[in-house]
Amino acid sequence: MASLPNGTAAAAGSSGGRPVDKEVDFANYFCTYGYLYHQKEMLCDRVRMDAYHSSVFRNAPHFEGKVVLDVGTGSGILAIWSAQAGARKVYAVEATNMAEHARELARANGVADIVEVIQGTVEDVELPEKVDVIISEWMGYFLLRESMFDSVICARDRWLKPDGVMYPSHARMWLAPIRTGLGDKKMEDLDIAMDDWNLFVQDTQAYYGVNMNALTKAYRAEHEKYYLKSAIWNNLHPNQVIGQPAVIKEIDCLTATVDEIREVRAQVMLPISLEGARLSALAGWFDVHFRGSAQNPAVEEVELNTAPDEQGGTHWGQQVFLLTPPVKVSKGDSVNVSFSMVRSKENHRLMDMEFTYELHEFSGRKHPAITTKMYLE
Ligand code: SAH
Repeated sequence: MASLPNGTAAAAGSSGGRPVDKEVDFANYFCTYGYLYHQKEMLCDRVRMDAYHSSVFRNAPHFEGKVVLDVGTGSGILAIWSAQAGARKVYAVEATNMAEHARELARANGVADIVEVIQGTVEDVELPEKVDVIISEWMGYFLLRESMFDSVICARDRWLKPDGVMYPSHARMWLAPIRTGLGDKKMEDLDIAMDDWNLFVQDTQAYYGVNMNALTKAYRAEHEKYYLKSAIWNNLHPNQVIGQPAVIKEIDCLTATVDEIREVRAQVMLPISLEGARLSALAGWFDVHFRGSAQNPAVEEVELNTAPDEQGGTHWGQQVFLLTPPVKVSKGDSVNVSFSMVRSKENHRLMDMEFTYELHEFSGRKHPAITTKMYLE
């Protein structure tokens, strides 16, 4: 899953413990999931589809005769697979009107007697029984954007049996040093925007007698945030990764709490492995695993990986965090990165990040640390 086109900045609740305004959340977040074109985008992601399909059908014993809860069923695909794999009952919960399409699809595929589609948020739903499996595709850009895992945690705490299994069972966030021309392009875009502003200031003075220059700084700050400090979606080629990626967060889906994911903080050393490269950004991505649980291990472990891939990747791509200006690095150097990510105050489904990075040359020379804010919007 990955909704909320980059740049959506409208308010939807808060990270600060204030309740989320449901109507606002529906307007800003859920609305896109009500469209088949958006569900189709996810259904066309082969990496995503193959991983979930394999996870279910190669682990049929987890499903045969079992009760399953599909959190955010969308078109109903995971619920239908669960039924085809032998589930006795599948509760398929979906907040949007897509629920009606899911019902229709379950009927058309002969599993309407097993798949019960319930329209509503999983936080509010009442089920007649506890479930053996919770399956959900809740991952947003850089794993946690959209904050949908909160809903999965809520569903797990309310409805999963003590020996129940989570699909997926584990998730990880990764960070890597990369080279990319995206920063140069964004700098150009910023220059063009500022040239245009300067002409506007001149014209407004000439024609209307008001000097707008007092706002130039604010206009620049607004555009720097947009062009340079917003995460950029990109499907990178593996040869753009110039050093060793590092795990910055590991989540056990069976035990994680909202407090554990509300903030992500990490300090990692990223060794550079390419000679004479230009470190122009850090990139973030995630993977998830379907391992079952200690009590109920998977027959065959399946991985869904969204790392840079020659085959073209996934609809999640990777998130590129520009380092401006870029830094020249050599093989043997390393970049020390302190990372923090918290939910945006205006919209709990978007993320505010801070990176402090410090180049340690192979020779022992340490460059001064640079701190930059980044926004995953
Ligand atoms: N399971 C489908 C859709 C995944 S997209 C698939 O794999 O193709 C995530 C879906 O979860 C969206 O349709 C969204 O509307 C729904 N969703 C998100 N949060 C929810 C919540 N709290 N309760 C119910 N549905 C939710």
